[in-house]
Amino acid sequence: LSMWSAVPAGPPDPILGISEAFKADKDPRRINLGVGAYRDENGKPYVLNAVKKAEEKITAAKLDKEYLPITGLAGFTNNAAKLAYGANSVPRNQNAIAVTQSISGTGALRIGGAFLARHYPHSKTIYVPSPTWGNHIPLFKDSGLEVKFYRYFDKKTVGLDFEGLKEDLKNAPEGAIVLLHACAHNPTGVDPTQSQWKEISNIVAEKKLFPFFDMAYQGFASGSTDYDAFAVRYFVSQGHQIALSQSFAKNMGLYGERVGAFSLTTADEEERKRVDSQLKIIVRPMYSNPPLHGAHIANTILSDPELYKEWEGEVKGMADRIINMRERLYQLLNKEFQTPGEWSHVKSQIGMFSFTGLNTEQCKALAEKAHIYMTMDGRISMAGLNGSNIEYFAQSVDAAVR
Ligand code: PLP
Repeated sequence: LSMWSAVPAGPPDPILGISEAFKADKDPRRINLGVGAYRDENGKPYVLNAVKKAEEKITAAKLDKEYLPITGLAGFTNNAAKLAYGANSVPRNQNAIAVTQSISGTGALRIGGAFLARHYPHSKTIYVPSPTWGNHIPLFKDSGLEVKFYRYFDKKTVGLDFEGLKEDLKNAPEGAIVLLHACAHNPTGVDPTQSQWKEISNIVAEKKLFPFFDMAYQGFASGSTDYDAFAVRYFVSQGHQIALSQSFAKNMGLYGERVGAFSLTTADEEERKRVDSQLKIIVRPMYSNPPLHGAHIANTILSDPELYKEWEGEVKGMADRIINMRERLYQLLNKEFQTPGEWSHVKSQIGMFSFTGLNTEQCKALAEKAHIYMTMDGRISMAGLNGSNIEYFAQSVDAAVR
């Protein structure tokens, strides 16, 4: 008898399952709207020019392959914090941001979860939006936190349930941790407005909640890295201490390189050093130290003014292409096909994803009849749409809802 004969088969990952069904479908019209990775106008993965040029510089510099320190490449973490908090951030100028490189956004969230489970004095409960990125839930549970939900999405308006959100945060126990998507909420594509963020900040202050920002899409939502950092910077300006997860997967297209950062704002440099020492104690037994290559790429882009400029243009290019697809899809559904239903949310939502409002049955019909693959909650990756397939997609949605 094998040691593992009693191990039950786990459910397949819902998103990777979609990619497999897509690969098995040989119809030329097939479209994969499941995976959250950018595709160019030809439906192909996109390596940014800024990344290619940074790699050329790195190759020319003939760097060695020595280990990085436990918290990663110092130039990179410093530049990552500058990108998120802004060049003039008060805690940054006071040397009071504790930051470590991480295995992309997922690893940053995991380090954050572990740090809070071990050192946050007021609660072991984290409130996440309903719905949220599916991985948040097992990730925080495995970090040692209890996961609860606050209302976020209103099915009726296909928009933000702001009253529900406020009520749930007001009713959360004092001191609880609250996970906030900094921009481009996944999976809904619905973000609070700036004035709503201000109200959320007030509730977080009143209830002494601890804000943990997940910023996986800085620049990818609006096209501007400053605009997308509004919530993070506003909370810091209001005197909140925050935790922050950053990912360079989407905004630099570095998905498989696994480049990210986790940071905490602290009271002063002395406290920051103590927190840093504990971040090292969390990271060391998990993976010793982070990978080198992607951090060099991101750091080269962030520290070279010309590459930085080129990168900013390319981030904006990706965001703009998605925004154009939203506009086009809205025009097709609302005007050309006069598809039953209200479709303005397609336009008002932001970032990689759109919650279409399609139900499970309609999603299944799209897969079976039209070879169009998306998650069964009706979420589509806007980046999977382009000039060649968007009409077919809209036509198929039209058929599915009639
Ligand atoms: N957080 C959110 C909300 C995401 O959508 C993602 C990726 O889809 C991540 C974090 C982490 O991604 P990665 O680990 O690839 O940086």
